Amino acid sequence: MKRRQFVGAGLALAAAWPFRGFASVLKGIGDLPAKTLTGGGVVLPGSSIEALAASLGGDVLLPDSQDYDRTRRIWNAMFDKKPALIVRCTGASDVRRTVDFAREHQLLTAVRAGGHSLSGKSTCDGGLVIDLQQMQGVRVDPGAKRAYLESGSLLRQLDLESAAFGLITTAGTVSHTGAAGLTLGGGFGRLGRRFGLACDNAVSFDVVTADGHFLRASDDENADLYWGLRGGGGNFGVVTSIEYRLHRMDPTILGGNIVWPIEQARDVMRYYRDIAVDAPDIVSLAPDLHWEPDGAKVGIEVCWSGDHGEGEAWLKKLRAFGKPVRDDIAPMSYLAMQIGADEFLGAGKYYYLKSGFLTQLKDDGIDRIIDAFRRMPDWYMLFFDHGGGAYRRVASDATAFPNRETLFLLGTVAVWPNKDGIDENLAKMRANWHELEPLTRGFYTNLTDPDTTMAGYRDNYGANFERLVALKAKYDPMNLFRLNANVPPKTG
Ligand SMILES: Cc1cc2nc3c(=O)[nH]c(=O)nc-3n(C[C@H](O)[C@H](O)[C@H](O)COP(=O)(O)OP(=O)(O)OC[C@H]3O[C@@H](n4cnc5c(N)ncnc54)[C@H](O)[C@@H]3O)c2cc1C
Repeated sequence: MKRRQFVGAGLALAAAWPFRGFASVLKGIGDLPAKTLTGGGVVLPGSSIEALAASLGGDVLLPDSQDYDRTRRIWNAMFDKKPALIVRCTGASDVRRTVDFAREHQLLTAVRAGGHSLSGKSTCDGGLVIDLQQMQGVRVDPGAKRAYLESGSLLRQLDLESAAFGLITTAGTVSHTGAAGLTLGGGFGRLGRRFGLACDNAVSFDVVTADGHFLRASDDENADLYWGLRGGGGNFGVVTSIEYRLHRMDPTILGGNIVWPIEQARDVMRYYRDIAVDAPDIVSLAPDLHWEPDGAKVGIEVCWSGDHGEGEAWLKKLRAFGKPVRDDIAPMSYLAMQIGADEFLGAGKYYYLKSGFLTQLKDDGIDRIIDAFRRMPDWYMLFFDHGGGAYRRVASDATAFPNRETLFLLGTVAVWPNKDGIDENLAKMRANWHELEPLTRGFYTNLTDPDTTMAGYRDNYGANFERLVALKAKYDPMNLFRLNANVPPKTG
């Protein structure tokens, strides 16, 4: 990095008024080597970076900028990447200018909202990161039952602002996850069996496409793009805002966990399977196999969002099943449940996850899952999400999200404090998944791991794939937005 100086807000205000003035402006910077879309090298003239910075409401961070190191980090510490530049956008105007810059220089480009990509797709080495973290805020229109979300917002903000009006929509189960990334890939959550995927509740999107145009995508405008944004991930542009449909709901749910010793897992999981398949939409039952200081356990997280009396009656048999060691199911705030796992799944640890969908769960499959769990060390956990309900009532070609038939999502996750023994541990995770994968059919693109291939995405999108390819050719023919569950602009 060459010589550079920052000109503070006051000077910039004088120079740039009436267009800009509150951001710092880069001056006197040298040429910057960067990586292109195809992996080659390009030298960005310092003057072009200065011009970009001067055009923004936000700012450009270079490797020796004060906030660079903090800003480049994403949730999963496995990905310690160093982009050539990070643009911290403050609105759609900044996003448009940055997309133009990326396209003109053919730069390897990552888009980052909440930074929770398991496979590190929201950052890159040597390229450009379009950082949306400063674009946060949710406005609720209680009369129309709508939430308008800036695309750097986290799920916590969506939940909080909606619940303040007795309203809610489906959001994921860890509140520091980004709403945009989650919604674009689908969006499972504790209320999903009742209200559908997060993307099923997305009424419209504002998008900056690869040519720098700003479009609205909804049922009435750019309906093809609207279809693709609901499950097709970040393939078609940078989403700057999302409008959600909200639903009225009692903010106090009946929730908590029932936990049994692992020795009862076979019976518990069989009983679970039998009741989960026909369960009412207002309940989500999410089991996991995990380790506690006194040994392995099987637990089921319950979230009953309907009438509490009916819930108590429906849950009675489950709570009496076998010999649980713990049962803390009680009326509780939905918002409190939504933050329950935040700390355990906090940023800065080393994570690795493998997952897939189950369209059936037979007795021998349950045995295989439990055996696979019991062979793993205590940094390993196995979890299920409860499918069916409203997820299933949408046709698999109605949105780009393809896996509507799913009854359960099966996931295996490793959490490590550091990288000690990482190669051996990763090999264990892969071998473990090798045993379980045959039980699955398709996978959740939002949970893809670094091993997922393009062929894997094609198979997973199934009949929706060719339609996604055509959309990609229309909205991003150069595949500028490729750091995602990538759909190519042409096949073959
Ligand atoms: C702790 C944790 C809990 C999770 N729980 C759930 C859950 O309950 N339900 C569920 O469905 N999923 C869950 N997920 C998966 C989650 O949906 C994905 O990790 C999701 O991609 C995260 O979005 P993000 O904005 O935080 O991530 P980012 O890393 O910022 O982005 C993820 C991907 O989306 C793209 N992207 C993000 N924002 C935009 C945008 N505005 N425009 C265009 N492209 C964009 C990025 O380029 C990247 O490819 C969880 C993940 C984690 C790490």
